[in-house]
Amino acid sequence: MIQSVGYAANHSFTGLKRHEFEREDPRPNEVLIDILYCGVCHSDIHQVKNDWGNTVYPCMPGHEIVGRVAQVGSDVSKHQVGDVVGVGCMIDSCRTCEPCRTGDENYCEGPNSWLATYNGPMVPSKKSPDGENHYGRDNTFGGYSINIVVPEDFVLKVPANLPVEKVAPILCAGVTTYSPMKHWGLKAGQKVGIVGFGGLGDMAAKLAKAMGAEVVLFTETEEKLSEAARLGVQAVYSKDKDQMESQANTCDFILSTIPEPTDLEPFIPVLKRDASLVIVGALDKLKPFNNMEMAMHRKSVGGSLIGSIRETQEVLDFCAEHGITPDVEMIGMDDINDAHKRVNDREVRFRYVIDMASLKTEEA
Ligand SMILES: [Zn+2]
Ligand SMILES: [Zn+2]
Repeated sequence: MIQSVGYAANHSFTGLKRHEFEREDPRPNEVLIDILYCGVCHSDIHQVKNDWGNTVYPCMPGHEIVGRVAQVGSDVSKHQVGDVVGVGCMIDSCRTCEPCRTGDENYCEGPNSWLATYNGPMVPSKKSPDGENHYGRDNTFGGYSINIVVPEDFVLKVPANLPVEKVAPILCAGVTTYSPMKHWGLKAGQKVGIVGFGGLGDMAAKLAKAMGAEVVLFTETEEKLSEAARLGVQAVYSKDKDQMESQANTCDFILSTIPEPTDLEPFIPVLKRDASLVIVGALDKLKPFNNMEMAMHRKSVGGSLIGSIRETQEVLDFCAEHGITPDVEMIGMDDINDAHKRVNDREVRFRYVIDMASLKTEEA
């Protein structure tokens, strides 16, 4: 067994505190990674608070992991000790279902679906058709820790020219916004609307711009309008009716990154005919839409969940090629409860990244 330590929550209401535990030794196809940095995603907060009713405690979040390979299993061929690597939302999938065979592991239809980087399989044994957990791991402890063991196929290569302390948010926020823009065929010269300007919105705007699209950001937070100008994109205060009307029938694609149910009806008129509004971030029952506007102009509303391993590597390489880095603020591990509160209150526009050296030097 490998000694580890991280920050975990024991209940939905206690916050996170130091938690010592053991990880299994790497299997022949797995690598052990010493974690350098881990991003703080809104999903971490949902999971700690048990907002989806499926949290396994102790809950150690973190699925935007950047680290260095410390040990490799005997069958590992893709990674070497010393490589700088990344781990995103998944650490395994069934590998045999149709989505897995065609490179869409994030839509794995196996009995336990994919194995999440924290909180275990997406479909736990008590909900799986055969009552089993085929991964043999119930509680996977995530990246708010000093190390992690991951099958090599789910480990990403971090391009050398990306600043290692800023890479982490690409692994969830980046791929979650990149995947739908690729899937829905966003092209250079088209106009894309991004709803919400937090960690996901920041990445979405930068990626869309690098793809050659015109970008308009919609935010309910007036203070964030000037920040959008800094990114060189148009910004609209979505509570202002006149500003919203000025955007009517202009967008070829809209991506909503708001992490909770919100009224998206005002954005339907912003879509052009045949265009789609796709929702990432909110995994909830949404407010109903009036289908009149959608049917009259053959518009669609859809959803998308993170991205595949292939797409995660693609977005890392795309960011390296286009010099895209997420806006981050570095924190120590013991700042995490305060950071969760600020993200939850939607005060921050950037992504917090935990410097794991702060945990290694912390006294037990
Ligand atoms: Zn995430
Ligand atoms: Zn599968």
